[in-house]
Amino acid sequence: MNYVKHFIYNHIIPVVGRLNVGKNKFVNVIYYHDIVKGEGQSFMQTNIEVFKQQMEYIAKNGYTTLRFDELDDKDNQKFEKKKVVIAFDDGWLSNYTEIFDFMKSLGIKYNIYLTISEIEKNKDYLTWDLVRKMHDSGWVGFGVHTFTHPHVADMKDIDPQLEFVQANEIFQKELGYEPLDFCYPYGSCSEKSHEYLTTQTNYKRIYTSTMMYSYEQNGRIIFGRNGISNDETFGVFKAKLNGYFNVWETIIH
Ligand SMILES: [Zn+2]
Repeated sequence: MNYVKHFIYNHIIPVVGRLNVGKNKFVNVIYYHDIVKGEGQSFMQTNIEVFKQQMEYIAKNGYTTLRFDELDDKDNQKFEKKKVVIAFDDGWLSNYTEIFDFMKSLGIKYNIYLTISEIEKNKDYLTWDLVRKMHDSGWVGFGVHTFTHPHVADMKDIDPQLEFVQANEIFQKELGYEPLDFCYPYGSCSEKSHEYLTTQTNYKRIYTSTMMYSYEQNGRIIFGRNGISNDETFGVFKAKLNGYFNVWETIIH
């Protein structure tokens, strides 16, 4: 990021976003990936101490945190100050080992989108037993992140039967309910993929990785989301938490 863009990001967006916070119609969503004991790295690995400080802020300042299934309720879908959906992409094992007890102790609910082909198969990912344990606790909601984690945007090189239908069937077999929350891998999406997912699948909520205002399409919600980077300031974290960064797409495009 060059100096000007850096300045806009750290100092202009939080202010402009705050002035435009009323443009948020739907609940704000922030997301992470892997949580690590060692040094963090950008959006993919967040250091546990950095993460804990952020969660303690959320708990101490009276934010309401929601599970995906609670978004079936229209009131919960609405944007409100101090209401947030906390999500994790991919299904990393650390989403259980490093944070499950900690999040419970703070009274914070969170959510995980599973890359179905990695669960149980990859040692760095969750197992179905752990997923069930977390689900049954009532503290963690789950969605899907395709079967093989492909780029979905142009819909050309992917097998929808595998990525959406089969992924959902396995999820349902393991957890006993149909997944209604879908997250694009790599944030790779397009008008074409939104149209497909909102008309050809049962997903009620579709999550991008674009910092934008969430909107409705064909009766489903297309969510903008705020990735929390290990390397950004606490001020930027707070602005993202409060939905101020959803103005980003409007300003940059
Ligand atoms: Zn992913």
